[in-house]
Formats: sequence, structure tokens, C-alpha cells
Amino acid sequence: MTAPLDLLDLDPSLSEEERQIRDVVRQLLDDRVRPHVADWYEDGRVPARELAREFGKLGLLGMHLTGYGCAGASAVAYGLACQELEASDSGVRSLVSVQGSLAMFAIWRYGSEEQKQRWLPSMATGEAIGCFGLTEPDHGSDPASMATRARRDGDDWVLTGGKMWITNAPIADVAVIWARTDEGVRGFLVPMDEPGVTAREIRRKMSLRASVTGEIVLDDVRLPADAQLPEAIGLKAPLSCLTEARYGIVWGAVGAARDCLETTLAYATTRTQFGRPLAGFQLTQAKLADMAVELVKGQLLALHLGRLADAHRLRPDQVSVGKLNNVREALAIARQCRTILGANGVSGEYPVMRHANNLESVLTYEGTSEIHQLVVGQRLTGLSAFA
Ligand SMILES: Cc1cc2nc3c(=O)[nH]c(=O)nc-3n(C[C@H](O)[C@H](O)[C@H](O)COP(=O)(O)OP(=O)(O)OC[C@H]3O[C@@H](n4cnc5c(N)ncnc54)[C@H](O)[C@@H]3O)c2cc1C
Repeated sequence: MTAPLDLLDLDPSLSEEERQIRDVVRQLLDDRVRPHVADWYEDGRVPARELAREFGKLGLLGMHLTGYGCAGASAVAYGLACQELEASDSGVRSLVSVQGSLAMFAIWRYGSEEQKQRWLPSMATGEAIGCFGLTEPDHGSDPASMATRARRDGDDWVLTGGKMWITNAPIADVAVIWARTDEGVRGFLVPMDEPGVTAREIRRKMSLRASVTGEIVLDDVRLPADAQLPEAIGLKAPLSCLTEARYGIVWGAVGAARDCLETTLAYATTRTQFGRPLAGFQLTQAKLADMAVELVKGQLLALHLGRLADAHRLRPDQVSVGKLNNVREALAIARQCRTILGANGVSGEYPVMRHANNLESVLTYEGTSEIHQLVVGQRLTGLSAFA
């Protein structure tokens, strides 16, 4: 966090290496993303492959994984990178999260040695792009009821069904597809050029416009036996991948909020009405103070969860606490910042409304706020209210 917003002096509690990683990522985003991202957002187009290769060079793809060309960074370092990525744009952070925490993690954790060798090194450099297909047109929060089927035909598998709202699907080389088999949910590595696979881009999104989202149709897709992820048994496998990605969102969301607040602080101190800067009005200071307090609380929460993760003590319900709080508060900050910018708050010349719109998607994906409330509720009460 930059100086005036670091109300609690969190910066010195990061290690020298953590600060260095954060600063290098911030510099790359300042050079390669910030000057262009408003245009990408407006046009609904993003040079995702080019970005993936740049991020790969810096070791940001599968950053927290070990071996196979991955950087093996700490959870806190990965979180700090996510914070910087999302301070530029939630869609840009999504590119990295889906590649590293969903697609690569699924292969790294549940794949065979051959699958890891085949995909992970090229995904770590950004040469190959992955996506993660769990959500379906009729099954979102309740993936256990998924309709996509994988049936045996001799040694082969035949997949039929469809996945919806899949980040990177239209540009991906490989999809991790979760499907129902006679033995329960299993994961499959599906090359996107396989006969029977089609990916259509979802247009007219009003959020996350600097991110490619698509629908995948699987029409009797025949795959060899070794396309199955051998260690992925049941729904807990994809859910564990979601926990990885949600952890990155805990950090990312505060990045978007920080960028809104930095923008707003600069605006409010220079814009004059009634003969004084907006920042000089008590009502504006009350808004700024409340937002800065929420920001630093979110940052403390992210850092705490990161330290737990690095000590291998982080539980999924704790990640739910972080995702629920930090996305909700980031969205509230973005909306409040927008009011301080007045009419300029609705302009793409400032990043605030772009962040606010993006955070609407972040609120929904990787488990909606309601689903995380239910996870926390179950932890508190011992009662599952899911079904
Ligand atoms: C831009 C974007 C990118 C995405 N990328 C991916 C991706 O890469 N891979 C992927 O698999 N998915 C992806 N998703 C899908 C996302 O994970 C789902 O949208 C999310 O899980 C919610 O599912 P749904 O949209 O079907 O909503 P629904 O499940 O239909 O929920 C609608 C509303 O009902 C509420 N609700 C549902 N069940 C309950 C309950 N039991 N109690 C109380 N309230 C409930 C929800 O909280 C929500 O408010 C993406 C979504 C977006 C918007």
C-alpha cells in the first residue's frame, strides 16, 4: 500500500523479498497494462495471449506452485502479486488466477506425471492457456447437480454437455472439465481443438470486459483414458481448486479498492468546490476515513490468511471469511469513491467505475457472497443450510 493509505504501517511487516516481488509486479503493470486497460475495457478486447507471455516471463503463472517451471513463491508473495494485478483490473487478475490457481493447480495437484510434463511448463510461460469448466448454464452455485456426463466407451471417455461463463475458454488450449461419471464427479483435460469441442465468446458483458469469457459445448467428445485426472475423486477436487483461486481474490479485491481510493484521494485534494478542495469538507473526510479503515482491515485479513497459508494452516472456511468480507467491502469502497468523483466518477477516464463494475463479477464468481455466508454459517452452527 502506498504511504498515506498505509494507516497501520503494514509495509514494514512484509519481508524484503515480498516487497521486491510486489514492486516488480507493480512496475510491469504500470508499463504494460495501466496505459491501455481503459481501452481494452471499453472495446471488450484484451491481448490475453500477449499478456500471458509477459506474466509468464515474470513467473506470475502458477506462481505459488513448485516444479515444472513454476516459481514456488510463498502464499503472501502470490497474494501481493494478485493485489497489484487487480489494482490494474480485475479481468487482468482473473487471467492469472484462472491460469495458475484453477487450471494449473488442478493439473499440479490431481494430474499424472505425464499430464504435468505435457502442460505445466508451457502454461507457466504463458505459451499455453488453460481454462476451468465447472459452471453450467443450469448449475452454478450447486455444481453437485452438474449435467455434463463422461461415459466409458472401451478404454475411451466420451464427454457430453456444456459449461457456461468460463474465463479464457475462447482462447484456451486446454480445458479442465468437471463431469459426472458412474463413479461420481471426475476431472478431464480436454484439448480445445478436439473434435466435438466448441467455445463461443459471451458478448455484452457490462463487467470484467478486459477478460475473455465463453461457453463450452461438448458434443460426444472422445478422449483417451489418460485424459482423466487420476487423483481427482469427487466434487472436493474442483472445490479445492476454487479455494486456491478464492485466496487470490481476497488479496485482489483490496487491490481494486486501493486503486479506487488512491484515485479518489488525489481527486478530492485537487478538485475545488465552494472555494475549497472536496477533501476539506467534513462529509468527504468521513467517507475517506471509513473507506481507508475498511481497506486496511481487508489488507490485514489478507495478510493474516496468507501467513496461515504459508504455515499450511489455512482452512477453506477462513478463505470464505476473506472472500466474503474483502469483495463486499471493495465494492462498497468503489461505489463510495464514485460519488466523490461526481460526474467524472462515471467516466472511463478514471478507473473507479470500471473497478466497481468488475467487482460485481468478483462478488458472484468463485462462490457468491451468499454461498460464503452459508460456509461461515455452517462453521458457526455446525448446521449445513445449503440444501
Ligand atoms: C465474468 C465471470 C467469469 C466466470 N468464470 C468462471 C470460470 O472460469 N469457471 C467456472 O466454472 N465458472 C465461472 N463463472 C461462473 C461463476 O462461478 C457462477 O456465476 C457462480 O458460481 C454463481 O452461479 P450462477 O451464476 O449460476 O448463479 P446461481 O447459482 O443461479 O445463483 C443466483 C443467486 O442465488 C443465490 N443462491 C444460490 N443458491 C443459494 C442458496 N443455497 N442460498 C441462498 N442463496 C443462494 C446466489 O448467491 C445468487 O445470488 C464466472 C462468472 C462470471 C460472471
